[in-house]
Amino acid sequence: MRTREKMCVQCSVVSPVLYRCRYGDSPEWQFLCEPCLTTVKAKHGESYQYGGTWKAKKR
Ligand SMILES: [Zn+2]
Repeated sequence: MRTREKMCVQCSVVSPVLYRCRYGDSPEWQFLCEPCLTTVKAKHGESYQYGGTWKAKKR
């Protein structure tokens, strides 16, 4: 079986739901868990861009 798990780029936690966002000087999308998303949002308010929610299980 293929696992469709992703890790949070900040804290490396594996989560079935991650939030796609871009921040800082990175041109690439990063996947963050909810607590890290909140931190990043507060820290990188100016450059922060939300790109949607990623889910392990697609319907
Ligand atoms: Zn995290």
